[in-house]
Order: sequence, then structure tokens, then C-alpha cells
Amino acid sequence: MVVLPKDDYRHQGLRRQLVDVLRAKGIKDELVLTAIGNLPRHQFIDDTAFLELAYQDIAFPIPCGQTISQPYTVAFQTELLELRRGMKVLEVGTGSGYQTAVLLAMGAKVFSIERHKPLYLLTKARLASMGMRPNLYFGDGYRGLPREAPFDRIIVTCGAPFVPEDLLGQLKSGGILVIPVGEGEEQRMIRMVRRADGTNSSEDLGAFRFVPMLQDRVS
Ligand code: SAH
Repeated sequence: MVVLPKDDYRHQGLRRQLVDVLRAKGIKDELVLTAIGNLPRHQFIDDTAFLELAYQDIAFPIPCGQTISQPYTVAFQTELLELRRGMKVLEVGTGSGYQTAVLLAMGAKVFSIERHKPLYLLTKARLASMGMRPNLYFGDGYRGLPREAPFDRIIVTCGAPFVPEDLLGQLKSGGILVIPVGEGEEQRMIRMVRRADGTNSSEDLGAFRFVPMLQDRVS
């Protein structure tokens, strides 16, 4: 079990302010805003030096040299998913588990893969301590999760050098993939929709920064 910092009225107030900031930045999906307004983001941050800043709209370091995404990025990607309750969602890059928790709070059936073993173990314990038990996997997100496919939605939360074919192939007809694509510092946020004939439409929704999607390395 992970010992979680307490969650009190002060944190709840800070969350309401964060939701106002996200609204002002253009997030409209009320289900996304409600999930973020309810989730104790400070309980996903291990470094106590950052606890006071947990409800600022910024990214933070988490173990294994990774980051918990900025709330705006989490909200933007989640909004693009057009999620409805009961949908089967694959997340690549569990990280802190915050995005995972947002998806769960919105009623999704979540499957999430993480490439760093210590992070996978820590996040599994953390989410269990918070009463959440998504299907977490230690492994390589490039391959997706063939055993559980197809998915209604797939979200990638690390910067991919290209769109992995395996992920596209694991989408249902009408399914949506949201993935930041690009090597180097900056990625383009791409949303792809799988058509009934197996082809995909693709939209570019702007520039973002993510830690890289790792290849050929398991630690
Ligand atoms: N959704 C996370 C974001 C974490 S950062 C959060 O809200 O905290 C991206 C994560 O993707 C990192 O934890 C990194 O280890 C993981 N990752 C990178 N390459 C991966 C791969 N090939 N398969 C699965 N996870 C990967």
C-alpha cells in the first residue's frame, strides 16, 4: 500500500480553481472537468517538494525520469477521445496513473501499459490504495494488447516517433486513437478515427511536449 497525503477542503478548493483554469483554456467536456475536479492530483505526486504545486497547470517529475502530464494536456487528450461510460480504453504510458484515474472516473474500462517496471509496481500499489483497480500491464506499448483488443479508444501518453500499426489494428470500427507523434522535443497531437473499411482519418490538433515512447528497452 502507498501512504497517501490527506485530501482536505483546501485541496478541493484548489481543484475547483484548476477546473476554472482548464475551462478558460478551452476544455468543454463536462465529464472531463468533473473527473479532474474530483481527483486528488496531489496524491499522484511522490516528491513532497511539488505537493504544494499539484493543482497548478504544470507537469511534474515522477520516478524513472518520467513526468505526470500537465492537467491541460490530460484534459485535452481525454476530450479528444469523446469517451462514453463503459467504453474499453487502452492507455499506453501508465506513468503516475493520473490519466488512468481520469479515464476510470469517467466510467471507462481501462487497460494501461507501462514500460518501466518500478513505475508499474508503484502505480499499481498507489491506485489500489485509492480503491482503483484498472487492468495494468508491464510491457511494450508499441504492441498494444492483442489479447484484450479491439478497443473503443486508445490514448498514448508518450511521444511516439510514428503511429504504431499494431495500435491502429486494435481499434474497433469507429474507434479513436489519440497519440502525440514526433521525434525530438515537440510532438503533434494526432487523432485518428478508424473507418468501417479499415482506412483511417487523421487530424492534427497542435503541438505538445511529451517524454519519448521507448523502443527496445525494458527496465
Ligand atoms: N499518463 C501518464 C504520463 C506519464 S509519462 C501520467 O499521467 O502520469 C509517459 C509514460 O510512458 C512514462 O511513464 C513512460 O515510462 C511510458 N512509456 C514510454 N514508452 C513506453 C512504451 N513503449 N510502452 C509503455 N509505456 C511507455
